Amino acid sequence: MKFLIHTYGCQMNVRDSEALEAMMLSRGFELASSEDDADIVIVNSCTVRQKAEEKAIGKVGNLIAAKKISGLMGCAVKRLGEDVFKRLPALDFAVAPRALGLIPKIVSDIIGARNSGKARKRILELGDDLIPEALSSHTTGSWKAFVTVLLGCDNRCSYCIVPDVRGHEYSRPASEIVAEVEALAKGGVKEVMLLGQSVLRYGIRNDAFIPSFPSSPKGYTEPFPRLLERLCEIDGIERIRFTSAHPGGVTDELVDVFTRFGKVCRHLHLPVQSGSDRILKDMGRRYTREEYLSSVKRLRSIADDFALTTDVIVGYPGETQEDFEATRSLMDEAGFDNSFIFKYSPRPGTRSSLKKDDVPKEEKERRDQVLLGDQERRGIERNSRLIGTVREVLSEGPSKRNPDRLSARDSGNRIVVWPKDDDFINDGSKVNLKITDAHAQILIAERI
Ligand code: SAH
Ligand code: SF4
Repeated sequence: MKFLIHTYGCQMNVRDSEALEAMMLSRGFELASSEDDADIVIVNSCTVRQKAEEKAIGKVGNLIAAKKISGLMGCAVKRLGEDVFKRLPALDFAVAPRALGLIPKIVSDIIGARNSGKARKRILELGDDLIPEALSSHTTGSWKAFVTVLLGCDNRCSYCIVPDVRGHEYSRPASEIVAEVEALAKGGVKEVMLLGQSVLRYGIRNDAFIPSFPSSPKGYTEPFPRLLERLCEIDGIERIRFTSAHPGGVTDELVDVFTRFGKVCRHLHLPVQSGSDRILKDMGRRYTREEYLSSVKRLRSIADDFALTTDVIVGYPGETQEDFEATRSLMDEAGFDNSFIFKYSPRPGTRSSLKKDDVPKEEKERRDQVLLGDQERRGIERNSRLIGTVREVLSEGPSKRNPDRLSARDSGNRIVVWPKDDDFINDGSKVNLKITDAHAQILIAERI
């Protein structure tokens, strides 16, 4: 039987889909080359904004029409609970994020029931008991890998549904992570991206004891910078990235690790959300504009080319023109290399959903466009400073936009493209490039 997984949402979902793919392959299922070719199609859903949820639900709705075995996994399932079958009556199964390890067996049971002519049964799994295999399984062949280090989130920012759908924070024991990265390195992986919703909180607390992980001691602590140091010792690993960072975690120890270890990439995705202290307080972000900018300063003191990217929400309830201008000016002061702008979307059950969503749609759109325009200008400015410098990249492959060019990323996660060389292979080998031109999101280079 052939399967296909469609993934929406963040890197955590990408990672979950990869783990599921590996588990399905190990049980004899085959990967389909297209939707038409697939017998089983699974959609991994996001619910962080209403639109994201609708996209995933719409996709799975189309698949049901094509009469495949269809399943929905991911964050929207946890949010919708039993209602998922009201929205999608013909769906075969729905599984919440932490229960994804159950999917291969669910699929086998459905196939078994169909083959023996039994009546169709819908399956819903909303449990939180993660199976260790669903964290540690990887597909092979790539020199880059995602590694989950921290599950869930306990920050409870006012607007955010993630804690409700991805559960309490759980830091995986460092020994388990080190063993996983060592095995990946042996298999040819050179770059790892450590994942957590608020990854710098790794090891700080671990009250959410998971019974299926008997090895996880309650109250376990191993600060994130120490985990980074340990991973830097692993032979074969050349780059370590991590995401996402809550500004509260930018400690002296973290700055020190960035400074001392060349393997730790000089990029941080540091979502700011707003530049207005009033809004930040209401969001429950637990930092002020000034504190955020002071973290930016300390990170940029590591190196001028230290790359900073961010997330911003426009049109949060009560966001005035003045609040919005404060966000604009903060973004300029921080000099973000890239930013992701989101229009506020009220999520059921969150604190901010109790407030009136009072910024009109058109105004949210306008603020979005203004920030995108600012970022375009700032991106060109920041990238232009790199013209004439040499950047080291790990080779990736032809550019998606222009196959005559090769594309790769520097330590700051900037995309660098250069004319295709004949001897090129996508193996993550080091290439030195001289930057000749700069766009807002791409550096143009030549090989030296
Ligand atoms: N864990 C990450 C963020 C996960 S959600 C972090 O805290 O850094 C990704 C981004 O979606 C957030 O940074 C935020 O900018 C945006 N977002 C979250 N909830 C939202 C909502 N209700 N409306 C609009 N944007 C939202
Ligand atoms: Fe959501 Fe805040 Fe947790 Fe990020 S840190 S996942 S924005 S609650």
